[in-house]
Amino acid sequence: MRVLITGGAGFVGSHLCDFFAGNGHKVICIDNLITGKKENIAHLLGSKNFKFVDHDVSVKIKVDGPLDYVLHFASPASPVDYLKYPIQTLKAGSLGTHNALGLAKSKKAKFLLASTSEVYGDPLVNPQPESYWGNVNPVGPRSVYDEAKRFSEAITMAYHRECKLDTKIVRIFNTYGPRMRRNDGRAIPNFITQALEGKSLTVYGKGRQTRSFCYVDDLVRGLYALMLSGLNDPVNIGNPNEESLLYLAKRIISLTGSRSTIVYKCLPVDDPKVRRPDITKAKKILKWSPEVDLDDGLKRTIKFFKFSS
Ligand code: NAD
Ligand code: UDP
Repeated sequence: MRVLITGGAGFVGSHLCDFFAGNGHKVICIDNLITGKKENIAHLLGSKNFKFVDHDVSVKIKVDGPLDYVLHFASPASPVDYLKYPIQTLKAGSLGTHNALGLAKSKKAKFLLASTSEVYGDPLVNPQPESYWGNVNPVGPRSVYDEAKRFSEAITMAYHRECKLDTKIVRIFNTYGPRMRRNDGRAIPNFITQALEGKSLTVYGKGRQTRSFCYVDDLVRGLYALMLSGLNDPVNIGNPNEESLLYLAKRIISLTGSRSTIVYKCLPVDDPKVRRPDITKAKKILKWSPEVDLDDGLKRTIKFFKFSS
């Protein structure tokens, strides 16, 4: 296959580049490096199966030659990043998704949208099945991400219905692993960096809010299963093992053998109180379920943070 990956120099995107290039496919990675790093794909740069293009997907995307798949992952994803780049985030989700869909249509390629559990907002049902419409504040600070992704789902379904494009939508739940930026502000890189440096771990609120953390290799397997499936409606991919943030902080202190303590900081505005994927659909239709448990995934991620610069 010839696969275009937008956001391919980011955390998840670079693992997808590895997966496809490693399995003999041709990969074109488009990224403007706003939150990604060339180091994430440096090992692929000399390969004849891999091409990097520095480009903002909010601007029309031009690619020579055929494409079998467009995987649209370009968007800031960490709350700290999207609050820093609110307009770029809205543009990546709206104009960027429109451009990526237009390209897929012109190449008669299949299309996969990286959506998010944030479309459920601060959910009033837990766990969240795909049929839940969500509880999103449309004008709060997180709306730049949540509403951009909700729009990107809507325009993807419109291209599917009107243009008969074969589209897939994955709602990704908190995914972690090697190549997350130390300073991207998300809980796992923050806690691991703080624990390794002997600093206090910054738990927001009382740490009672919950998340369900999925290791990146599990996500990549799920995405590939979705690509090969006949599904066009959104599907949750995540690990349903729900934990409080206080538990996560304590676990990371223990697994790093750190002497760090915990310090409590203000809870960000509209921070979801609970989050857990209902993965019945992925299990049944994709025959997918996560395999890496939290301790194992954290150990692998800690190793990466310890030994990379
Ligand atoms: P990331 O910030 O590491 O990667 C995003 C990549 O997109 C970066 O390389 C960035 O430079 C690039 N990018 C952003 N705007 C761009 C633009 N306008 N043009 C070109 N490139 C652009 O984040 P990530 O965690 O790897 O997330 C990747 C995708 O997966 C995002 O779409 C995100 O919304 C989605 N997602 C991730 C998670 C998660 O837990 N990691 C959860 C839900 C959804
Ligand atoms: N969080 C925290 N301390 C940090 C970073 C994040 O307690 O240093 C909390 C945050 O408030 C949220 C959870 O961890 O409740 C997950 O945050 P993250 O930014 O990783 O992802 P989110 O699920 O909010 O997109």
